[in-house]
Amino acid sequence: METQEIADVVSSLRETFDGGHTRSLKWRMGQLRALERMVNENSADIIQALQADLGKPSFEAWAAEIGVALRDVKEMMKHVSGWMRTERVGAPLIVQPGKGEIYKDPLGVVLIISAWNYPFNLVIAPMLGAIAAGNAVVVKPSEVASHTSAIIAKLMGDYLDTEAIRVVEGGVPETTALLEQRFDHILYTGNGTVGRIVMAAAAKHLTPVTLELGGKSPCYVNRTADLETTCRRIAWGKFTNAGQTCIAPDYILVDESIHDRFIEQMVATIRQFYGENPQEGQRICRIINERHHDRLMALMDSGDAAVGGVGDREDRYIAPTVLTNVDPSSPAMSDEIFGPILPVLKVSGVDAAISFVNGRPKPLALYIFTSDDHVSKELLGRTSSGGATVNHTMLHFAVSDLPFGGVGESGMGAYHGRASFDTFTHRKSVLRKPFMIDPSIMYPPYDESKEKWLKRLM
Ligand code: NAD
Repeated sequence: METQEIADVVSSLRETFDGGHTRSLKWRMGQLRALERMVNENSADIIQALQADLGKPSFEAWAAEIGVALRDVKEMMKHVSGWMRTERVGAPLIVQPGKGEIYKDPLGVVLIISAWNYPFNLVIAPMLGAIAAGNAVVVKPSEVASHTSAIIAKLMGDYLDTEAIRVVEGGVPETTALLEQRFDHILYTGNGTVGRIVMAAAAKHLTPVTLELGGKSPCYVNRTADLETTCRRIAWGKFTNAGQTCIAPDYILVDESIHDRFIEQMVATIRQFYGENPQEGQRICRIINERHHDRLMALMDSGDAAVGGVGDREDRYIAPTVLTNVDPSSPAMSDEIFGPILPVLKVSGVDAAISFVNGRPKPLALYIFTSDDHVSKELLGRTSSGGATVNHTMLHFAVSDLPFGGVGESGMGAYHGRASFDTFTHRKSVLRKPFMIDPSIMYPPYDESKEKWLKRLM
């Protein structure tokens, strides 16, 4: 799309929003129902696109993209009428008689920019909140997952109200053109470098932003952990989507007393999950493109591979890899890995794990494996992260009552469930007063007795 065409899309959405029809419950429910039908009737084609982009096993495509979208849309439909209802709050004596009310205003025209790693879900999940809150929406899927971007554009055009919901496909030029427009909110998912570009562009219009970023999410394994279950849960979290998950455990800090047993168990678990040759069949996702494949293969030198360590560039395949003897200043420990490579570092105990975490940018997720509640409380109480799961990985993401988002370098704002609705809603405070009873005490001319009353009433 050309720059002028993009500007026209945004101004036509603004006209639609100003016309008011996206505010009604009927419109919101209608669009959510249409979205549900869109996913149900086209799941096979969506999975095919996900396989073309990422070689996603269909189980993973269902679990993390299609199934989760259907669950979230049902949840939105169940709650939207309750969430959009005006709330009543009490008013103090000084303003009596009067009633406090909180209106749930849609924000207007909002922009959602998505990343390539869960290219369907990262468009649908925030969009549900934007629609449920009564906004007009522009979505910009990631051009890096081009097949999924194309099917999103086609299906949304076929199923949804295109006067209020539009897809703009494209890369940097299109996103740059979009960001020149005025929006009422921008939700961006992706890396922090582009996050800064988005925030700077938004600042020109004083547009608020939600930034869903990433970073290195640590995983601490305490000596009290049940190692068999721990390794299963970590391997699942790390190698799902071939590690291309914002909340994948990025690296392991393990108590040195159990380090060797942990590595042995992790290697056994990976063999159990993926067999002797994980490249065969539809066992593990592929890396999104050659550039990322090359970037990841270069990280293999950061340690000794206890398992894996190999890749096949033509197939964009990298074996599930565990690296030991990793130096904290090596390339694998510098930036987010975002691939199936798991560095394991020894720590002397809880305090060392906490200072390691606190010595780096605030992560999106923190994982703690321990049978000792005191240990998990210490870690949670003395570190800061977007979210956390104790004794599993990634699952806090699946609880829609838990707002999902980062802190510091890992992002700002949150969504999922009610938090998605709130992100795209302005809570407008209103005080409603009748004409009757209008005590003269608040009006000039002031005197001592009025001041005495004022002090009593406040
Ligand atoms: P990406 O390359 O798909 O980029 C994200 C979006 O930014 C795309 O839509 C792209 O078109 C746009 N973009 C890229 N360059 C731009 C520019 N110069 N100006 C304007 N727009 C631009 O995805 P990515 O950044 O590689 O995504 C991976 C990162 O996202 C990881 O750090 C990961 O942890 C993070 N992530 C976070 C979440 C979350 O929910 N917090 C989810 C998924 C991924």
